[in-house]
Amino acid sequence: MHRRDMLKLAATAGALAVTTERAVKAQEKVEKASRGMPSPIIKDIQVITYNRLTVVKIVTDQPGLYGYGCGTISMRSEVVTTDVEKYLKPLLLGRPADRIEDTWQMMVNSAQWRFDPIMNNSMSGVDEALWDIKGRQAGVPVYELLGGKCREAVMAYTDLAAVRIPNPPDVQGMIDGYRKLMAMGFKAIRAGARDPKAPPSLWDATVTSDSKVNFATQMAFFEECRKQLGFDVGLIFDVHRNYSNPTESVQFCTDIEPLKMFYIEDPFSIEDIPYYKQIRQHCNTPIAMGEMFVNPNEYVPLINERLIDYMRIHISAAGGVTPCRKAAAMGELLGVRTSWHGSPDISPIGHMANVHLDVSCYNTGIQEWRGYSDLTKEIFSGCIEAKDGYLYPNDKPGWGIEIDEKLAAKYPPGTGEKGSAQKLNGGWGDYRRADGTIYRP
Ligand code: MG
Repeated sequence: MHRRDMLKLAATAGALAVTTERAVKAQEKVEKASRGMPSPIIKDIQVITYNRLTVVKIVTDQPGLYGYGCGTISMRSEVVTTDVEKYLKPLLLGRPADRIEDTWQMMVNSAQWRFDPIMNNSMSGVDEALWDIKGRQAGVPVYELLGGKCREAVMAYTDLAAVRIPNPPDVQGMIDGYRKLMAMGFKAIRAGARDPKAPPSLWDATVTSDSKVNFATQMAFFEECRKQLGFDVGLIFDVHRNYSNPTESVQFCTDIEPLKMFYIEDPFSIEDIPYYKQIRQHCNTPIAMGEMFVNPNEYVPLINERLIDYMRIHISAAGGVTPCRKAAAMGELLGVRTSWHGSPDISPIGHMANVHLDVSCYNTGIQEWRGYSDLTKEIFSGCIEAKDGYLYPNDKPGWGIEIDEKLAAKYPPGTGEKGSAQKLNGGWGDYRRADGTIYRP
């Protein structure tokens, strides 16, 4: 609106002269800002893959203005590529890149059936790329767009494999390894005894052939941990939804209460969510859940009823930063903290998105942290590093990460897989319990 029109409008409204002048100046500032940063238009959408990791790149019509977003679902990675290229790209080309909320609402409603892990990851790739673009255009890190820092860094937890300390099979070897993590500055550790009967191909130390044996073994293991390490270090155990029946899991959370765990993760699968009330009735062991969440209807009731203490949402599987910052805000009002999933099958872009939310949300609890290989750090420059057990975002615009796309292209999906996962292009395959039933992750 021109100055003359503004003044005319103000005169009609009978506004005071001083207010009018202020309003005119404000409007002039808005116009100046708009002229300085014209709305970028989505010109191209590409998918970058590197081993199991999937990143969406959005290129705008403005020279050098683009953004990256994580869309990694490692067990079906190439399906995301198809979804982005065949469905989202035609929907989004030519649209403004700065309308993030509107774009997300459009994407989520563009397939009639809303919320599945594949489509959510595709949306996350686009959503996080748009946040990156907005930050790069404004010249500020994304956390500034989310309200700015309310903490300088986030406390991290990790495990032995993540920092490439060999995973010893015996109890004493594990505890000695935890001492090394504590010496590195970590104040919390993802711990657990390794079941010698577990199939060697399973990557997770908590997966076992018999959950009853597992729970008894883990109880004895954590008692020994507390005896040797004391109560100052936070201990986290991931049940990984591996139990024979839900009552057995309630019993475990109750029995372990005196050991004051930082939290127990995923004592139930999504199918057994109603059992969370039983844990609250029996004990005060802190509970975390969320890496399997894809639909707000799964996590909203648990947060609303305060049945979990930490939301472990895997941000890309839930659809990106846009829905997850809302989940975090809801948690703040109800006393539920965040502990975003930070597994190895998240790209450095996704890990950076975790940490930008961590430093800008008041109710951040703790951040799962895995190190990167030298090759990953070469491909993704600007990766997060842990310092004395804390994670700091870099302060460059957007996510602050650049990708060597030519180097990434040398490692297409499946390249890094071993054994059956190679044949299955990263899929999990046929894992069974001791009685022959399929293991339900
Ligand atoms: Mg987990």
